[in-house]
This record gives sequence, C-alpha cells and structure tokens, in this order.
Amino acid sequence: MKIFKSKHKLKEEISNIENISFVPTMGGLHKGHISLIKKSQNFKGKTLVSIFVNPKQFNEKKDFLNYPRNLKKDLRILKHLNVDLIYLPGLKDIFSFQVKNKIFLDKFSKKLCGKSRKGHFKGVLNIVNRFLELIKPKYIFLGIKDFQQSYLISRHIVKREINTKVINCKTIREKNGIACSTRNNNLNKYQLKIASNVIKYLKNKKKLIKKKLSNFKFVNIKKDLINLGVKKIDYVELYNLNTLKRPKSKREKFKIFIAFYLNKTRLIDNI
Ligand code: AMP
Repeated sequence: MKIFKSKHKLKEEISNIENISFVPTMGGLHKGHISLIKKSQNFKGKTLVSIFVNPKQFNEKKDFLNYPRNLKKDLRILKHLNVDLIYLPGLKDIFSFQVKNKIFLDKFSKKLCGKSRKGHFKGVLNIVNRFLELIKPKYIFLGIKDFQQSYLISRHIVKREINTKVINCKTIREKNGIACSTRNNNLNKYQLKIASNVIKYLKNKKKLIKKKLSNFKFVNIKKDLINLGVKKIDYVELYNLNTLKRPKSKREKFKIFIAFYLNKTRLIDNI
C-alpha cells in the first residue's frame, strides 16, 4: 500500500498505470466504503482510494468540524484490504491548481439536498473534477446511497466528455436497517433506534404506496416521523429514478428519498 500526500508524487507514480479504479471518500470508513473498494478490486488494474474531508461541500462550519474522522483506523482498514494506492491531499495540494474543465451542474442539483444545502453540490463537483483531472481514472465507484451526488457527477462527466465510467454501487446497511454512514458515529443508542424505526416505517410505507400512490401524503408522513422522534425533516419525496420525476402510476419504479435530523446529525437515504 502506497500513501501519497502530494499530487506531484501521486501523478508520477500513476503516470504508467493504465487502469485506475478510483474510490473517493471522506474517511470514517465503514462497510459501505469497504464494499465499494472490494468491488473496485474486482476490476483490472489498480485501486486508488482518496480520503479528504472537503470543506467546500459543507454549508455549515460546525458540521465540517464535527464530521467524524479517524485516519489511523482508516489506514488499518485499507491496509487490511490490500489497497494499492491512497491519496490523502491537504487543502493546498488539491485546490492550488487550475482545472481544465468547468464544473457542469445539472438542474437536478436544485432538487432534494440542493434545496436545503446551498452550494453543497458545487463543492462536491469542484473536488471530484479536480480528482478526475489528476487521477484520470478508468472507473469511479460511487454509492447510490448518495443518488443525487452520483447522478450529478455522472452528468458532469458526460457533459465534459471525461473518459471515466461511473460504477454505481448498492447501499450497504446495518442489521437494524439504517444505511452505513460515517455520520452514524455521531448518534447515540437512542438516536440509532429512532433512525432504525424511520427506515422500517418508510419500507412499510413504500409497500402501501406501491398499492396506491395516493397513500403518499407528505403531511401525514412528516407527522408520523416527528412522532417517531425525528427533530427536523428537510424532505421526504418520491422519485422515479429514470425520469427523475414524481411517479404518476403505480407501475413505475420509484424510491422514497429522505433527509432528516436527529439532534444535530443530518442523515440521508433512499428506499
Ligand atoms: P463519503 O465518505 O460519505 O463521502 O462516501 C464515499 C462514497 O461511499 C460515496 O460514493 C458514497 O455514496 C458511498 N457510500 C456511503 N455510504 C454508503 C453505504 N452505506 N453503502 C454503499 N456506499 C456508500
């Protein structure tokens, strides 16, 4: 396992590698990240994992400072997984060069998380655009837990004709149903129980909605979630993943997208 903190050294190392499978992360590694890494290792070539908590995608400084970090543990996990290359850029290293491609921000960025987290996706694309330019990976592995993020990165790649293929990876969950997330580290037992009840509730609701779309009444769902102990809800919305519109017929495949708060911790999921 080779660790790089400088883009110049990294570029030197990878200049002769033809196929790079890239897994960008913000660290605080969990089973979700591990599944992306293992998937990338099934592809020909080398796996490169980055760990960088990107300040530009946090719209509140406090949230950035409270983001769980554990580099020692992360490196132990990566070593155990036998990952080829690790990139740990500092702020200056990653933001101090001129990029060729301008960020393309699809209009879907205005929906869901885009409404409540101003500048978030621009911040995400800024860093991903930089990584893509430095690393020029053949593949980038992204989780559909962050569906909107993955979609917007794909759109940027297509629009800017970048030679990287997005590999979407399924959501890995804990036994209690909640999606693995670094932010779960900030939840106590009681909050984890509420989060688990929210997911169970939404799974059940989805079955009902599938039978009858009018079973989706935002106001009622919101009330039920508050009763379960949720403090604040940014959104609960249905989306057809192909049309990116609200489903009109029960034959359409859809997902329930949610962003909610347990105390100060914001969680997102799609079910
Ligand atoms: P993050 O470190 O939260 O920025 O996530 C890095 C990558 O891991 C992103 O592509 C996420 O979508 C993906 N990811 C996060 N949580 C999960 C999960 N529970 N299952 C699968 N992938 C995930």
